[in-house]
Amino acid sequence: MVPLRTRQEIESMRRAGRVVADVLALMEEELKPGVTTARLDTLAEDYIRKAGARPSFKGYRGHPGYPNFPGCICVSIDDEVVHGIPGERLIEEGQVVSVDAGAIWQGYHGDGARTFYVGKPPADVVRLIETTRLALMAGIAAAVPGAHIDDVSGAVEDVAVEGRCDIVRPYVGHGIGTKMHEDLQIPNYRTGRLGVELEPGVCMAIEPMLTLGSAEVETLSDGWTVVTTDHSLAAHFEHTIAVTENGPVILTTA
Ligand code: MG
Repeated sequence: MVPLRTRQEIESMRRAGRVVADVLALMEEELKPGVTTARLDTLAEDYIRKAGARPSFKGYRGHPGYPNFPGCICVSIDDEVVHGIPGERLIEEGQVVSVDAGAIWQGYHGDGARTFYVGKPPADVVRLIETTRLALMAGIAAAVPGAHIDDVSGAVEDVAVEGRCDIVRPYVGHGIGTKMHEDLQIPNYRTGRLGVELEPGVCMAIEPMLTLGSAEVETLSDGWTVVTTDHSLAAHFEHTIAVTENGPVILTTA
């Protein structure tokens, strides 16, 4: 059973989502050559806590035998797809940088991600980033009452294919609410199964991850960082949304 959130719960998720959106806007401002990813993480944590929220990624449980996630944001650079750990690495001109952030406000979660380019992007990177962003928006637009999960997945897939990007398949969108990851799964490609029917109150994080080359991925020895096996560039966009009587509503927005 997919939990249906009340209007009041969705309002709390919107508060969490606003913090996430603000953090991502702050990251866009601060993402300059010479800044370390650890510094970005500190700025994000300060912002989240000052807003009266808590960072949901910090201490997130790792795979067995690996440390819990140490940061408040994931910073994934170039061929890193998701789950990059903030550290002493320097941001440089010409990097493709994906930032994923999560916040909890009074027990309710928001989760969002954006990909930025440091400098003026070449045409193929513009295609990668714009296709990923548009794939997310198409997935959101498909999340109307009466539609099914596969409609959302198919909408994401169609935009990815149209933009000649490959789809990272092992990582998918998810239900979200009182936990960051709830049972519902939202693949970024058609599965051939309708999946659950969407109705008002369903909340989910839709998050296409696309690549310019092969989307085959592996996890680095840190137990977290997911990279493309062929080192092709990757992008990641994510919004937390609520399905309402009036259609989908983005919660991770200012
Ligand atoms: Mg997510």
